[in-house]
Formats: sequence, structure tokens, C-alpha cells
Amino acid sequence: MLQFASILAFPVTPTLVQQDSKTTWRLASDDLTNIISLAWEMLDPTSEQVLHNIEMLPQVSNSFFPYRSIGSGEQSLYVSDVPPNLAPKQKLNAADVIPCFICGKQFRLPMMRNHVGGHVIRSQRQSPDPTATVAVGPEPCGFCGREGCYTQLTKSGLSFKVTSQCDYHYSTMQYKAAAKFSANAPCTNVPIHCALCPTSASGTPRTIWKYNAIYHLISEHGDENQQIPSIPGQFMVDMFVHRREEAAMGFTAQETAEYRQQNQIPDSDAIDAIAESNEVGKRGRSNTQSTTGSDSHVSKQGRIA
Ligand SMILES: [Zn+2]
Ligand SMILES: [Zn+2]
Ligand SMILES: [Zn+2]
Repeated sequence: MLQFASILAFPVTPTLVQQDSKTTWRLASDDLTNIISLAWEMLDPTSEQVLHNIEMLPQVSNSFFPYRSIGSGEQSLYVSDVPPNLAPKQKLNAADVIPCFICGKQFRLPMMRNHVGGHVIRSQRQSPDPTATVAVGPEPCGFCGREGCYTQLTKSGLSFKVTSQCDYHYSTMQYKAAAKFSANAPCTNVPIHCALCPTSASGTPRTIWKYNAIYHLISEHGDENQQIPSIPGQFMVDMFVHRREEAAMGFTAQETAEYRQQNQIPDSDAIDAIAESNEVGKRGRSNTQSTTGSDSHVSKQGRIA
């Protein structure tokens, strides 16, 4: 018996035909092609959600697939325009030394996310980045600094799994260690879940990178006045960048204070209180915070658009 999610089922309407004295079904090629397109769209192939949605598909391995045209023998009824970044890739190893796509400097894979975080945070705040030779886009990948990589975070109990199609995906990264500040690797830019986006077809929350959270909130959830709806407490904790991390990234205390004021981000004490109350109650009631779009992000959006 084959079991699969009901959203993956698409009805077909065959006609009955006689063939070799037997009665059988006939399905119109156009109908099947349309259903394949619909089914592929259902997987949300242009967002990172596709990574988990694909996992819902049952795997079938036999010589009948892909189907072939009876006349020409050509393969048919398959998805032909799969984005190249969904193709299986060889993962890099921790010992591999690779160049930063933004400045060209070389690092071992485990340190690349930490290094790229410096470019990303400067870009998000529109701060000068003298070493960058390539501009960072509005929602950069935290592993490589480029746009367009698909990365998804799955939480299961206390464990975190990061799936990514990024060339620089560090597949053995320890999530909790990466999300924690340390003097050697201050950058805590990790994939987090957006609590405001709808979940995917497979029920997984949308994944964004922590440093991109303010931009994401303003661009995806802000109203015409750049006002963002209340943010659930845990989401605020997940996206919060502590001052010591900002200092290690080269921001002065005054710059941090101004940025927080512009975006109505609470201070560390308030965040610690939210985190603590989350731990204590695991939150029956919503513990929410508000933030507002800053002028700098308005102008950034304008620049990007
Ligand atoms: Zn770099
Ligand atoms: Zn990437
Ligand atoms: Zn969102």
C-alpha cells in the first residue's frame, strides 16, 4: 500500500476504450501534463519550502519511470524545468578551504558562515563594507552571502536540522553552537522560523536567516507605513542580536542603540525576560513585541526595487 498526503492527489478523468479485446483507460496527454504542472506548483518550487515539500513525495523506484512515448520511446510526463539549485550536490567537507563570494578571502568551510555574517550585517544596516567587491542582496544566504539559495530549518523536539542547497552549506554544523556567540565565532546568523508567514504544504514554518529578519518583516509583513504586526516573543528572541555580537562585528554601542531605536527593537534585558518567560511557561499566552520599519530600510527597499 502506498500512503501519501492528500494534497498530493489530483483527480483524473479517463475514458474507457477497447484495446486488444480488453477494456482499458485512456488519459489525455494534455490533462496529464497539466496535472504534472499543478502538482509541481503545489510543492512551491520557487521558495525554500520545496525542500521539505519534496520530502512528502513517495519514492518509487522501478523501470517504468519516467514513462516513455509509445511511438518515439522518448521520456515523457516528468518535470523538465527543475531549478538547477535543486539538483543533488556534493557537500563540502570541514577541511575544505573556499573563497568568499563577496570579498574573495579564503576560509575553511566551518568559518565561512561567521565571515559572511560580517558582510550580511553591514549590508542589512547599510554600513560601509570596504572589503566587499560584490554587492550583497536584500535577503542573502547566511552560508555564502548570495541570493537564491534554498535553506530550511526543521525543529523536532530539542533537535534542529538545517537542509540547504547552498554550495557552501556546512552540513555538519551544530545548530545550537552556531546560534551562540563566542569570541572566535561571534556571528549567530542561523536559519530561524518566521512566526508570521504561513506554513508550507508539509506544515513546516517558513525559514529565514536571522540577520535578514528585520528586512523580511518589513518587506513581507509590514503595512504601507512599514508598520510590522506584533511579533511573538520567541521569534523576537530568535532574531535578536546581542550588543557584544554587534561590537565584535565592528558596530559601536551608539550605532547599536540607534539601530534598535529606529526598528523599535527591545534591549538585551527585555529579550532575556522574554526568553525566561518562554522557558517557564512555554507560553500559553502570546508574548508579543512590536517593531517599526526604519527609514534606512525604507530606503533600502527603494534601492532594491
Ligand atoms: Zn568576504
Ligand atoms: Zn548560499
Ligand atoms: Zn515571514
